Amino acid sequence: MTSSMSNILVNVSTWENFDIFKWYNITKDKCLSKITMHLIEQLHFVNTLNINRIKLFNFLCDIEKAYHTSNPFHNAIHASDVVQAEFYWVLDPEVSKHMTEIDILSCLIAAACHDVGHPGSTEAFHIKSQSDYAITYNDASVLENFHLATTFKLLKKQNNNWQCDWDIELKREFRSHVISLIFATDINDHHSFLASCHQYIDNDKSFIPGSPNTDESKILRRKLLRDISLKASDLSNPCRPKHIMLEWCRRLISEFAQQGELEKKLGLEVSPMMDPAILDVCKMQIGFVDVVVAPLYYAWVQLAPSAQIPLNQMIDNKSFWLTKQKKEQMNKTNSLVSVTTDINNLSDLNNL
Ligand SMILES: [Zn+2]
Repeated sequence: MTSSMSNILVNVSTWENFDIFKWYNITKDKCLSKITMHLIEQLHFVNTLNINRIKLFNFLCDIEKAYHTSNPFHNAIHASDVVQAEFYWVLDPEVSKHMTEIDILSCLIAAACHDVGHPGSTEAFHIKSQSDYAITYNDASVLENFHLATTFKLLKKQNNNWQCDWDIELKREFRSHVISLIFATDINDHHSFLASCHQYIDNDKSFIPGSPNTDESKILRRKLLRDISLKASDLSNPCRPKHIMLEWCRRLISEFAQQGELEKKLGLEVSPMMDPAILDVCKMQIGFVDVVVAPLYYAWVQLAPSAQIPLNQMIDNKSFWLTKQKKEQMNKTNSLVSVTTDINNLSDLNNL
C-alpha cells in the first residue's frame, strides 16, 4: 500500500470525503481487489473467519479481470464504489448490531461480484436480441444469474478457493446469502422488493426497541438488512457528492449510447434513453430519483440512520437537476429552439 493510497483510504469510512475516481486513478487495474481486500482486513475477517488470505486476493483479482474495462459504467470502478458504500452501511451500529460476521462478509463479497462480467447492455436488450445470455438463463434475471454463476465458478478454482478451511455449513450459508444479495440487485424486481420491505418494517414488532425477538424474526431481519444494503449501495450514484454523481451520470449515458449503437447495427429498435441525440438527461435523472432511488432511501433510512447523509445529498442533487431543467426549458422557449440535443447539454456537466 503506497502513501497516496493510504491518504485516500483514510476517508473510506465516510460518505462525503471518499472519492472513488481518485482511488481508481492511483490503483487502476487493482482498484477493486485492493479496496475489497483492505476493507475485509480492516474488519479482521481474515483471522476471525479463517479465510485464506492469498487465495482471497487471487479470487478478487480474477473477479476484477472479469469486469470489462470497455464498459464506461458497469466496470470494476462501479463494483469498487458499491463495495465502499456497503462498508459505510455495515459501520452503522444500527445495522451491524443485527448482523453476523458472515452476513457482513457476504455483503462485501457480493458487492464486489454483483456485476462481474457485465456485458454493458441491459437485460431487456439481451431478451430482445435473444443473446446467448438470454438463452442460457431463459429470460429470467439473465444478468444476475450470469454474475452469480461467474462468481461461483471463479471461487471454485483451486488458487481462488479462500474458503478451503471452512466447513460445508458455513460455505452453504455464504452461498445462500450471496445468491439472495445479487438477485436483490435485479432492478426489474425493485418495486416488489420495496413493497415487501415496507410490509416488514410496518409489521415486524422486533424493529421496535424492547419487543421480543424470535429466531425467525432475527433471520428475516438479517436477510432484509443484507439485501436492502446492497441495493442502496448499487443505486447510490444520485446520493454521492455532486462531482461524483455527475461523473457516474456521464458514464451511464455513454454506456447507454454504446448500446444504442449496437441496437442500430443489429437492426433493432433503439431502446428508450439509448439515443443520446434525443435523450433528456434532466428528465432521466429526476425520474430515476423519484421512481427508484428516493423510495429505497426513505425506507433504508428507517433502518440505517447513517443513510441520512446520502439522502440529504440526493435531495441537493435533485434540486440541481430541477434548476438545470428549468433553465433549459426557459432557453428553449426564449430562443424558440424547437429541438436541442441534450448531448450538447452534457458538455455543461463536464464544466461543472
Ligand atoms: Zn451494479
